[in-house]
Amino acid sequence: MLYTPGMSISEELFERACRVIPGGVNSPVRAFRRLERAPFFVKRAEGAHLTDEDDKQYIDYVGTWGPAILGHAPECVISAVQAAVPHGLGYGIPTRVEVDMAETVCRWIPSIEKVRMTNSGTEATMSAVRLARGYTGRRYIIKFAGCYHGHVDSLLVAAGSGALTHGEPDSAGVPAEFANLTIVLPYNDRAAVERAFASHPGEIAGIIVEPFPGNAGFYLPRPGYLEFLREITEKNGALLIFDEVMTGFRISAAGVQGKLGITPDLTTLGKIIGGGLPVGAFGGRREIMDCVSPLGAVYQAGTLSGNPVAMAAGLAQLNYLEQHDSYTRLEQLGARLEEGVRRILRDEQLPLTFIRDGSMFCLHFTTQEVYDLDTAMSGNFDMFRRYFHAMLEQGVYVAPSPYETGFISTAHTEADIDATLAAMQRALRLAK
Ligand SMILES: *Cc1c(COP(=O)(O)O)cnc(C)c1O
Repeated sequence: MLYTPGMSISEELFERACRVIPGGVNSPVRAFRRLERAPFFVKRAEGAHLTDEDDKQYIDYVGTWGPAILGHAPECVISAVQAAVPHGLGYGIPTRVEVDMAETVCRWIPSIEKVRMTNSGTEATMSAVRLARGYTGRRYIIKFAGCYHGHVDSLLVAAGSGALTHGEPDSAGVPAEFANLTIVLPYNDRAAVERAFASHPGEIAGIIVEPFPGNAGFYLPRPGYLEFLREITEKNGALLIFDEVMTGFRISAAGVQGKLGITPDLTTLGKIIGGGLPVGAFGGRREIMDCVSPLGAVYQAGTLSGNPVAMAAGLAQLNYLEQHDSYTRLEQLGARLEEGVRRILRDEQLPLTFIRDGSMFCLHFTTQEVYDLDTAMSGNFDMFRRYFHAMLEQGVYVAPSPYETGFISTAHTEADIDATLAAMQRALRLAK
């Protein structure tokens, strides 16, 4: 990409970045590539607001892609980090705060009896899948098209998020022999799961699923679908893995499983659990987790895992969420946004599909019901692009892809939501 004099500071930085970083970014969705403009570079962030290098301000609905549930730089997290830092940045030996964190996770999420910390969601899902295979002694894993579980080799098949945005649902560099051990099925299709179990008797180690998929836009399970996955895995001696890296501590204190009362065998966590620092976790039933090294034969490790500064940040965020009735507040803000969006769609006679649960939402640029990858992909990308640019122009940052979820934080105010709705009405008029 070539930029000419008169560039903004963000454009200058992006030009420098592109010379030394692939695509100028350290994670692909940040590149704004299909939007035909440079990304903005953030100088600082506070609450629900970002300020870029050119001092332009945005109301933020990306929220670090999920972690910033209290908004950016919340006082409780910043002071916990500041209190932890003088004691050292990490020792690679056990610390008290790791026990506090594990006890908190086990108390919040009853299906988790033991938990192991990692440094990212990707490590958590990779480890959970290895554990499912090690525990059952079976080879195959079922995943659903459009569900993203990080960039794990065997899970990078028909994955959502960045891979989808860039039109590369499968990655080069994943040998067919790996991918062949992953059975990819459409989400919300019970018969497909029944057929897979029937054609691979005694060979399926488990199902990994985003219980509320949030990486191909946001959509929901049909009533009874997750309960069905619970039953069929149990009947076939396979494990049910809920990937709650995005929905954990977000949809409810205990994620989707807490909201719907379903007990998976294993759960993967990330994003919110790190309070903005790099953390993931996987946990579940004691007897399964006891197969992890050093107790069991499934190897899993991490030099920086359970880092005390990251644990302090995450724990401060979780404690704050618990002490401030945050989920009621997030639901209020979400409901206000939803009411406004539905009014705008009526006023503008744009019957687009809007899906929300709590503080997660997605405006799909399609008039179809969205319940799987195909229907999520049925949207009008050009209309989204015009909408995105018009929103950014007005100082509202929504995800730079139609296949992402929007996030509200407790730092958003009614005034932020109302300003967003006014911008949205203008943007949709322009985008039509
Ligand atoms: C973000 C995400 C991951 C990957 O987490 P990273 O920290 O980016 O590696 C895995 N699963 C789901 C559902 C996610 O949303």
